[in-house]
Amino acid sequence: MTEAADQTAPSPRTTVRRGANRAVYAPDDVKTILDAGLVAHVGVQTPDGPLVLPMAYGRDEATLYLHGAAANHLLGTGSGHEICATVTHVDGLVMARTPFHNSMNYRSVVVRGFATKIVDKAEKLRALKIITDHVVENWDLGREVSDIDEKKTLVLEMPLAEASAKVRAGDPIDEPDDMAGPWWAGVVPIETRFGTPYPAADLTGTNPVPDGYVSLDGTVI
Ligand SMILES: Cc1cc2nc3c(=O)[nH]c(=O)nc-3n(C[C@H](O)[C@H](O)[C@H](O)COP(=O)(O)OP(=O)(O)OC[C@H]3O[C@@H](n4cnc5c(N)ncnc54)[C@H](O)[C@@H]3O)c2cc1C
Repeated sequence: MTEAADQTAPSPRTTVRRGANRAVYAPDDVKTILDAGLVAHVGVQTPDGPLVLPMAYGRDEATLYLHGAAANHLLGTGSGHEICATVTHVDGLVMARTPFHNSMNYRSVVVRGFATKIVDKAEKLRALKIITDHVVENWDLGREVSDIDEKKTLVLEMPLAEASAKVRAGDPIDEPDDMAGPWWAGVVPIETRFGTPYPAADLTGTNPVPDGYVSLDGTVI
């Protein structure tokens, strides 16, 4: 991870002010955090007030992609406007000598920018493949997407140009006067991992589990 001091925020509004030492702006680091996530919390301003909903996403070098039903309220409202997408990983619970200094170890990315509906069919299908394969790599392994599927789907793109990351790792930071006290201090790590894939109850197809999704412990299903 690139040191905060060696980086420049892409814009004033994406400059981390609180805890600036935890800021990460290097595009490769931002992308690594995005690639490790599955869900973005996407925020839009609606006539009823702010709305933030969880959504799958995908990205290429310069763009973040979101998709939903053609009638999707959040995406429809966000299209043609500024939106915000946030991806968060919680890596550990940090217990300090005083709860006042408890914290979490985390990696998070905030992307801010203008959302545009993709209308070109080829571009839309490319974006859908990117989103699909980011979550579970089976775009080329399942039934081909039909014209009806494509028409039923709304896809938005937003630039990755204005993205910031914030990362906390390591031990609690306690006050010097508390260091000699009896209180426990440390980190409870949080691990997220894939389990063993299992077949749908009504599965009759004979294709194997796609590569990369075979049980991590080597179990053959
Ligand atoms: C892990 C995860 C991944 C998802 N990925 C996608 C995706 O890639 N694309 C997609 O379109 N949708 C996805 N969803 C569902 C998404 O969060 C919305 O429910 C959905 O997009 C409908 O949005 P809408 O604005 O049309 O909802 P509406 O039905 O118009 O929302 C009306 C109201 O319902 C409530 N509501 C809506 N969604 C949720 C929710 N998820 N949880 C609690 N309350 C809610 C809110 O109060 C909202 O104001 C995902 C959800 C989860 C949990």
